[in-house]
Amino acid sequence: MKQPLIDSHGRVHDYLRVSLVEKCNLRCRYCMPENPEWTPGDQLCTTKELLAIIEEFISYGIRKIRLTGGEPLVRKDFDVILEHLSGRGIELSMTTNGVLIDQHITLLHKHGLKKINVSLDTLIPARFALITRRNVFEKVVQNIRMLVNEGFKVKVNSVIMRGINDDELCGFVEWTRDLPMTVRFIEFMPFNGNRWDDEKMVSISEMKERISEKYRFVKLEDGPNDTTKHYRVPGFSGKFGIISSMTEHFCGSCNRIRLLANGAMKNCLFSTEDTDLLSLLRKGEPLEPVIRRVIWEKKPSHAGRFNIAKQKNRSMVMIGG
Ligand code: SAM
Ligand code: SF4
Repeated sequence: MKQPLIDSHGRVHDYLRVSLVEKCNLRCRYCMPENPEWTPGDQLCTTKELLAIIEEFISYGIRKIRLTGGEPLVRKDFDVILEHLSGRGIELSMTTNGVLIDQHITLLHKHGLKKINVSLDTLIPARFALITRRNVFEKVVQNIRMLVNEGFKVKVNSVIMRGINDDELCGFVEWTRDLPMTVRFIEFMPFNGNRWDDEKMVSISEMKERISEKYRFVKLEDGPNDTTKHYRVPGFSGKFGIISSMTEHFCGSCNRIRLLANGAMKNCLFSTEDTDLLSLLRKGEPLEPVIRRVIWEKKPSHAGRFNIAKQKNRSMVMIGG
């Protein structure tokens, strides 16, 4: 194995998040712009190319890989990619919108992909259709219950937006009374075309205050690279967490690298720079010096951007959350 990937702030990078596909079967307003500029097909990684770049990262001791997107389960060769990565001693996980889970559950069991985050921003069907521009609320909820019942480690991700779903914090916490899973509330982040504004963002402190009006909850211990602050209502089966990327960032312990479906690498979700590994691979040039430089140059927090709300970035659907 090669030397691990370390940045100039001493952070070891051993967690790769791979966006398998830019496209998606939902159209969440906070994620996908109305007119996305999709990458032309010939500039996206083939299965072989994607796996070659992932292998390069594995050679630096990557111990955790998360499959994301767009919607990872719409990628046609999802099974080939999962089969390739399984049984290697790498912790595998996935972030999905949950719509296609029932069609893939046998495959997920077979390859030991046990840690699954499912996005669900509301428990009200009409609101789901408004947020995602699609009418599949029941399917997603059924699939979440199926995952929990079949022993998967499930986290439900909910982006909290003022005036849209911020009145549902307690409804989601109530879900954890009987369901042994984690519900995570995410502070709304700015990306191209998602109409982010300060007013719509609900901070962690406000979320906690609003939950405390109904529930008494306790703080739980978080893992060393956790992006989530965890809590539990005593006596409830599940727990809840808050991802406070905007108001209390967790960059100091960041170990994450992002690889996009077009073979671009990012050293931070908020970085405006993409590093094109696919072109290097196609030209037969070595990836290692470039990868090491990009990691080394990672900024201490938020890609060094002073005001992340005011600068351009790709849309979230194309980066992969
Ligand atoms: N399609 C999958 C899904 O929805 O889970 C995976 C990709 S999605 C881009 C990954 C995560 O990013 C989701 O949990 C989603 O809620 C989150 N996300 C998207 N746009 C966001 C935003 N503007 N602010 C905060 N989180 C966002
Ligand atoms: Fe698709 Fe996930 Fe973005 Fe929604 S959040 S549009 S499901 S990629």
